[in-house]
Amino acid sequence: MSFASLGLSAPILEAVTKQGYETPSPIQAQAIPAVIEGKDVMAAAQTGTGKTAAFTLPVLERLSNGPRVKPNQVRALVLTPTRELAAQVAESVALYAKNLPLSSAVVFGGVKINPQMMRLRQGADVLVATPGRLLDLYNQRAVRFDQIEVLVLDEADRMLDMGFIRDIRKLLAAMPKQRQNLLFSATFSDEIRQLAKGLVNNPVEISV
Ligand code: AMP
Repeated sequence: MSFASLGLSAPILEAVTKQGYETPSPIQAQAIPAVIEGKDVMAAAQTGTGKTAAFTLPVLERLSNGPRVKPNQVRALVLTPTRELAAQVAESVALYAKNLPLSSAVVFGGVKINPQMMRLRQGADVLVATPGRLLDLYNQRAVRFDQIEVLVLDEADRMLDMGFIRDIRKLLAAMPKQRQNLLFSATFSDEIRQLAKGLVNNPVEISV
Protein backbone atom coordinates (compact mmCIF):
# COMPACT_ATOMS: atom_id res chain seq x y z
CA MET A 1 0.00 0.00 0.00
CA SER A 2 1.32 3.41 -0.97
CA PHE A 3 0.07 6.99 -0.58
CA ALA A 4 0.05 7.31 -4.39
CA SER A 5 -2.40 4.39 -4.72
CA LEU A 6 -4.86 6.23 -2.46
CA GLY A 7 -5.43 8.92 -5.08
CA LEU A 8 -3.24 11.74 -3.81
CA SER A 9 -1.47 13.86 -6.43
CA ALA A 10 2.20 14.76 -6.78
CA PRO A 11 2.39 18.00 -4.75
CA ILE A 12 0.82 16.27 -1.74
CA LEU A 13 2.85 13.08 -2.20
CA GLU A 14 6.02 15.17 -2.18
CA ALA A 15 5.06 16.78 1.13
CA VAL A 16 4.24 13.36 2.61
CA THR A 17 7.55 11.90 1.46
CA LYS A 18 9.35 14.88 2.93
CA GLN A 19 7.82 14.01 6.31
CA GLY A 20 9.40 10.58 6.01
CA TYR A 21 6.04 8.74 5.86
CA GLU A 22 6.45 5.53 3.85
CA THR A 23 3.14 3.75 4.17
CA PRO A 24 -0.33 5.02 5.10
CA SER A 25 -1.55 4.11 8.57
CA PRO A 26 -4.78 2.03 8.75
CA ILE A 27 -7.03 5.04 9.27
CA GLN A 28 -5.33 6.86 6.38
CA ALA A 29 -5.73 3.85 4.06
CA GLN A 30 -9.47 3.81 4.78
CA ALA A 31 -10.29 7.50 5.07
CA ILE A 32 -8.24 9.03 2.24
CA PRO A 33 -10.01 7.35 -0.74
CA ALA A 34 -13.47 7.90 0.83
CA VAL A 35 -12.84 11.60 1.43
CA ILE A 36 -11.42 12.09 -2.08
CA GLU A 37 -14.60 10.52 -3.45
CA GLY A 38 -16.57 13.17 -1.59
CA LYS A 39 -18.16 10.85 0.94
CA ASP A 40 -19.03 11.71 4.52
CA VAL A 41 -16.90 9.86 7.06
CA MET A 42 -17.37 8.87 10.69
CA ALA A 43 -14.11 7.64 12.19
CA ALA A 44 -13.28 6.30 15.63
CA ALA A 45 -9.61 7.05 16.15
CA GLN A 46 -7.32 8.01 18.99
CA THR A 47 -4.46 10.48 18.81
CA GLY A 48 -1.33 8.82 17.45
CA THR A 49 -3.13 6.86 14.71
CA GLY A 50 -2.31 9.42 12.03
CA LYS A 51 -5.83 10.85 12.05
CA THR A 52 -4.72 14.40 11.27
CA ALA A 53 -3.19 13.41 7.94
CA ALA A 54 -6.16 11.06 7.36
CA PHE A 55 -8.46 14.05 6.95
CA THR A 56 -6.00 16.79 5.96
CA LEU A 57 -4.41 15.09 2.93
CA PRO A 58 -7.65 14.22 1.09
CA VAL A 59 -9.27 17.56 2.00
CA LEU A 60 -6.30 19.35 0.42
CA GLU A 61 -6.61 17.06 -2.60
CA ARG A 62 -10.26 18.08 -3.03
CA LEU A 63 -9.56 21.77 -2.50
CA SER A 64 -6.81 21.76 -5.10
CA ASN A 65 -9.59 21.42 -7.70
CA GLY A 66 -12.03 24.21 -7.24
CA PRO A 67 -12.70 27.93 -7.07
CA ARG A 68 -10.43 30.40 -5.34
CA VAL A 69 -11.46 31.40 -1.87
CA LYS A 70 -13.13 34.81 -1.61
CA PRO A 71 -12.46 37.48 1.03
CA ASN A 72 -13.67 36.46 4.51
CA GLN A 73 -14.70 33.05 3.20
CA VAL A 74 -13.51 29.54 4.08
CA ARG A 75 -13.58 26.39 1.91
CA ALA A 76 -12.70 23.76 4.53
CA LEU A 77 -13.29 24.25 8.24
CA VAL A 78 -11.67 22.08 10.91
CA LEU A 79 -13.11 22.45 14.42
CA THR A 80 -10.98 21.30 17.35
CA PRO A 81 -11.62 21.37 21.12
CA THR A 82 -8.48 23.20 22.30
CA ARG A 83 -6.10 25.85 21.12
CA GLU A 84 -3.18 23.43 21.45
CA LEU A 85 -4.83 20.96 19.08
CA ALA A 86 -5.88 23.79 16.73
CA ALA A 87 -2.29 25.01 16.53
CA GLN A 88 -0.99 21.48 15.96
CA VAL A 89 -3.52 20.70 13.21
CA ALA A 90 -2.85 24.06 11.55
CA GLU A 91 0.86 23.28 11.54
CA SER A 92 0.18 19.95 9.79
CA VAL A 93 -2.11 21.64 7.25
CA ALA A 94 0.56 24.22 6.41
CA LEU A 95 3.17 21.48 6.06
CA TYR A 96 1.08 19.23 3.77
CA ALA A 97 -0.15 22.20 1.67
CA LYS A 98 3.34 23.56 1.15
CA ASN A 99 3.42 22.72 -2.59
CA LEU A 100 -0.17 23.77 -3.27
CA PRO A 101 -1.63 27.21 -4.05
CA LEU A 102 -3.87 26.98 -0.97
CA SER A 103 -3.95 29.21 2.09
CA SER A 104 -4.61 28.26 5.69
CA ALA A 105 -5.28 30.06 8.95
CA VAL A 106 -5.94 29.24 12.60
CA VAL A 107 -8.12 31.00 15.18
CA PHE A 108 -8.66 30.21 18.86
CA GLY A 109 -9.65 31.97 22.06
CA GLY A 110 -7.44 33.44 24.77
CA VAL A 111 -5.57 35.75 22.40
CA LYS A 112 -6.47 39.08 20.74
CA ILE A 113 -9.25 38.81 18.20
CA ASN A 114 -8.15 41.73 15.98
CA PRO A 115 -5.20 40.02 14.23
CA GLN A 116 -7.51 37.08 13.51
CA MET A 117 -10.10 39.44 11.98
CA MET A 118 -7.40 40.99 9.81
CA ARG A 119 -6.17 37.60 8.65
CA LEU A 120 -9.65 36.38 7.77
CA ARG A 121 -10.20 39.30 5.40
CA GLN A 122 -8.11 37.47 2.80
CA GLY A 123 -10.16 34.31 3.19
CA ALA A 124 -8.64 30.90 3.94
CA ASP A 125 -8.91 27.69 1.93
CA VAL A 126 -8.51 25.83 5.24
CA LEU A 127 -9.46 27.37 8.57
CA VAL A 128 -8.68 25.53 11.80
CA ALA A 129 -10.67 26.90 14.73
CA THR A 130 -12.00 26.35 18.22
CA PRO A 131 -15.80 26.74 18.34
CA GLY A 132 -16.18 29.62 20.80
CA ARG A 133 -13.78 32.01 19.10
CA LEU A 134 -15.08 31.07 15.67
CA LEU A 135 -18.63 31.91 16.75
CA ASP A 136 -17.41 35.31 18.05
CA LEU A 137 -15.73 35.98 14.72
CA TYR A 138 -18.85 34.90 12.84
CA ASN A 139 -21.09 37.13 14.94
CA GLN A 140 -18.76 40.05 14.27
CA ARG A 141 -18.98 39.26 10.54
CA ALA A 142 -15.23 38.65 10.28
CA VAL A 143 -15.81 35.24 8.71
CA ARG A 144 -18.50 33.95 6.35
CA PHE A 145 -19.49 30.38 5.59
CA ASP A 146 -21.10 30.61 2.13
CA GLN A 147 -18.12 28.96 0.45
CA ILE A 148 -17.72 26.00 2.85
CA GLU A 149 -17.28 22.71 1.01
CA VAL A 150 -15.95 20.50 3.80
CA LEU A 151 -16.46 20.46 7.58
CA VAL A 152 -14.24 18.40 9.88
CA LEU A 153 -15.00 17.85 13.56
CA ASP A 154 -11.77 16.65 15.16
CA GLU A 155 -11.97 15.04 18.62
CA ALA A 156 -15.72 15.57 18.62
CA ASP A 157 -16.13 13.75 21.95
CA ARG A 158 -13.82 16.22 23.67
CA MET A 159 -15.69 19.14 22.13
CA LEU A 160 -18.92 17.83 23.62
CA ASP A 161 -17.23 17.16 27.00
CA MET A 162 -16.02 20.75 27.01
CA GLY A 163 -19.55 22.06 26.49
CA PHE A 164 -19.15 23.28 22.90
CA ILE A 165 -22.33 21.66 21.59
CA ARG A 166 -24.38 24.89 21.57
CA ASP A 167 -21.66 26.81 19.75
CA ILE A 168 -21.26 23.96 17.26
CA ARG A 169 -24.99 23.88 16.58
CA LYS A 170 -25.06 27.64 15.96
CA LEU A 171 -22.12 27.34 13.57
CA LEU A 172 -23.73 24.40 11.72
CA ALA A 173 -26.94 26.39 11.28
CA ALA A 174 -24.98 29.13 9.50
CA MET A 175 -23.34 26.78 6.96
CA PRO A 176 -24.52 25.72 3.52
CA LYS A 177 -26.47 22.43 3.73
CA GLN A 178 -24.62 21.03 0.73
CA ARG A 179 -21.20 20.09 2.08
CA GLN A 180 -19.00 17.12 2.98
CA ASN A 181 -18.82 16.22 6.68
CA LEU A 182 -16.05 14.34 8.46
CA LEU A 183 -16.50 13.35 12.09
CA PHE A 184 -13.50 12.12 14.07
CA SER A 185 -13.90 11.03 17.67
CA ALA A 186 -12.02 8.76 20.07
CA THR A 187 -15.32 7.33 21.33
CA PHE A 188 -18.84 7.03 19.96
CA SER A 189 -21.17 7.75 22.87
CA ASP A 190 -24.94 8.26 22.52
CA GLU A 191 -24.33 12.01 22.52
CA ILE A 192 -21.89 11.76 19.58
CA ARG A 193 -24.31 9.51 17.69
CA GLN A 194 -27.03 12.10 18.26
CA LEU A 195 -24.80 14.83 16.85
CA ALA A 196 -23.80 12.59 13.94
CA LYS A 197 -27.44 11.93 13.05
CA GLY A 198 -28.00 15.54 12.05
CA LEU A 199 -24.56 15.94 10.53
CA VAL A 200 -23.34 13.10 8.32
CA ASN A 201 -25.18 11.58 5.35
CA ASN A 202 -24.68 7.94 4.52
CA PRO A 203 -21.20 7.98 6.09
CA VAL A 204 -18.34 5.60 5.54
CA GLU A 205 -17.71 4.27 9.05
CA ILE A 206 -14.13 3.61 10.07
CA SER A 207 -12.67 2.31 13.27
CA VAL A 208 -9.03 1.52 13.93
P1 AMP B 1 -1.93 12.07 14.80
O1 AMP B 1 -2.63 10.79 15.14
O2 AMP B 1 -2.59 12.78 13.65
O3 AMP B 1 -1.78 12.97 16.00
O4 AMP B 1 -0.47 11.72 14.26
C1 AMP B 1 0.48 11.06 15.07
C2 AMP B 1 1.90 11.16 14.53
O5 AMP B 1 2.12 10.25 13.48
C3 AMP B 1 2.28 12.52 13.99
O6 AMP B 1 3.51 12.89 14.56
C4 AMP B 1 2.45 12.32 12.50
O7 AMP B 1 3.46 13.13 11.97
C5 AMP B 1 2.81 10.85 12.39
N1 AMP B 1 2.31 10.19 11.15
C6 AMP B 1 1.11 10.40 10.56
N2 AMP B 1 0.96 9.58 9.49
C7 AMP B 1 2.08 8.84 9.40
C8 AMP B 1 2.53 7.80 8.50
N3 AMP B 1 1.76 7.37 7.50
N4 AMP B 1 3.75 7.26 8.70
C9 AMP B 1 4.50 7.67 9.73
N5 AMP B 1 4.16 8.63 10.62
C10 AMP B 1 2.96 9.22 10.47
